[in-house]
Amino acid sequence: MRPLEGQTAVVTGASRGIGRAICLRLADGGANIAGIDVAMDSLEETGRLIREKGVQFKALQADVSKLDQFQDAVNAAAEAFGSVDILVNNAGITRDNLLVRMPPEEWDSVIAINLTGVFNGIKAAARIMSKQRSGRIINIASTVGISGNAGQANYSASKAGVIGLTKTAARELARRNVTVNAVAPGFIVTPMTDKMTEEAQQASLQRVPLGRFGQPEDVAGVVFFLAGPDAGYLTGEVIPVDGGLVM
Ligand code: NAD
Repeated sequence: MRPLEGQTAVVTGASRGIGRAICLRLADGGANIAGIDVAMDSLEETGRLIREKGVQFKALQADVSKLDQFQDAVNAAAEAFGSVDILVNNAGITRDNLLVRMPPEEWDSVIAINLTGVFNGIKAAARIMSKQRSGRIINIASTVGISGNAGQANYSASKAGVIGLTKTAARELARRNVTVNAVAPGFIVTPMTDKMTEEAQQASLQRVPLGRFGQPEDVAGVVFFLAGPDAGYLTGEVIPVDGGLVM
């Protein structure tokens, strides 16, 4: 069963963590993958794992916060594989600090990558998908974009922004048969969350009804569903993948 056979998926932040897991899952479904990241070493490792699955992989270096770089990368993917059917806006960073102590650079860098980066990706892919009259855009938000989180004013604002952007893009692109949805992960074990102290990790775990941290594959499975044939009548939604954290 390879429901994405012959399709092209562009995934940002593809070098590691959730992005790599998404690439692997979409490749299992038969899609060729164009992986975008700023970190090229580990992106090549993602590529090696993907090619083992018998699909093609193209590594593209781009900073998602720069529209021209993102546009060039999406165009290169379309040129290499003939279409862009799926875009997963996954790249993201944290720069945690209490609001009153947060320097403007920490605010600006998180908004630039996490929110403007998604805007740039949608702009770049929507042009191609609109012409094709089909496409799936999946944005990786976060539960803190719904609930807020002390110490993450920049990050939670960026993710709340992604949710608003997702719904607006869903409305604007629906007539072109392009769906736009968001996935909102809770606490997922990746290099991003490895930075948290043991104490903070245990405090987070206490609040998860399913009693375990999520794995990147938990998020990848929902992205795979949104990219696939069973999700064609679903747009403008935000799906939490959080073990019940924000139900
Ligand atoms: P990660 O830090 O492990 O990986 C992020 C990837 O994005 C890295 O490969 C990094 O090089 C890349 N990246 C960073 N800035 C970039 C830029 N400007 N342009 C291109 N690539 C860039 O993070 P992760 O935990 O895998 O998170 C992936 C996404 O999931 C992020 O959007 C994050 O906010 C979101 N998320 C993660 C969690 C979690 O618990 N891990 C929870 C909620 C949401």
